[in-house]
Amino acid sequence: METPAAIRIRDLEKVYAAAGNAPAKHALKGVSFDVPQGQIFGLLGPNGAGKSTLINILAGLVRKTSGSAEIWGFDIDADSRNAKRSIGIVPQEIVFDPFFTPLEVLENQAGLYGVPKAARRSLELLGQVHLSDKANAYARTLSGGMKRRLLIAKALVHTPPVIVLDEPTAGVDVELRRQLWELVGELNAGGVTVVLTTHYLEEAEQLCDRIAIINHGQLIANKPTRELVDMAREKVVVLTFDSGVPELPSSPAFLKCERAGERTIEITYDKDRSNAGEVLALVQGQGFRIIDVTTREADLEDVFVHLTSQAAA
Ligand code: ADP
Ligand code: MG
Repeated sequence: METPAAIRIRDLEKVYAAAGNAPAKHALKGVSFDVPQGQIFGLLGPNGAGKSTLINILAGLVRKTSGSAEIWGFDIDADSRNAKRSIGIVPQEIVFDPFFTPLEVLENQAGLYGVPKAARRSLELLGQVHLSDKANAYARTLSGGMKRRLLIAKALVHTPPVIVLDEPTAGVDVELRRQLWELVGELNAGGVTVVLTTHYLEEAEQLCDRIAIINHGQLIANKPTRELVDMAREKVVVLTFDSGVPELPSSPAFLKCERAGERTIEITYDKDRSNAGEVLALVQGQGFRIIDVTTREADLEDVFVHLTSQAAA
């Protein structure tokens, strides 16, 4: 039997009503997809695509216009209490009362969720997000990175099977991003299903098992990461020659051939119609002496640009 979904979304619509000068906004236009259990699932899309709207509907912060959503099998309307208990949400914005300590933040949150004192694991969670030594510091004294990690711990106090992180690494530095990726990996290894939204494609490509892309409120892709990246048809070989190239090689098999340096050129080809071996043979056949070869994989960015420009047309 198929594993049940961690999250199941069907025909989800959201229209924000007009307010003042702002016209009504159709932010989600019938979105349907499943997040399989146990995965790291990436929800990608440009700014304004509708990612936070979708997350906030799951969190119970935004009212959907129509459609349905289930979290761990619990309908967010019919069984909202269980649905809420099954998910932890790390919001896009950092908000804390500056006068609480990390330990108090977690204890308060556990209280909100009705976690009995004996079942609380605030210190353990602080350890998990590497904040043990800050347990009793004021929240206002924490760095931005520490606050983000505290938010993650806060989302975990009721031990939900699913955690959602909305743009966890927007505007954070490289070191903290690395730490957050590691933490997400550890959580997932511990059995938690992770959903993250991001507009960093590299992040999604490295971290996620599966990726859905939304654009203008519509789902335009939903595939295992590898398959999605493989949709990029173009590949590039970079060739270095033993001397300068007065004239570039040419062939109908090349989509593009460009200079990349005095003795270096880049040839782009369609991976469904050609391959690096054939490209090399064609170039050598035209009398060029190649001394070095590297290939550049197409990446998610290529696919993303392709898909989002297509959908806009
Ligand atoms: P994302 O998180 O992908 O950047 P959002 O879900 O925040 O996108 O926004 C989707 C669209 O809905 C945007 O056009 C945004 O301006 C609009 N929007 C978001 N929140 C509100 C709101 N509270 N009222 C009106 N429009 C909103
Ligand atoms: Mg957002």
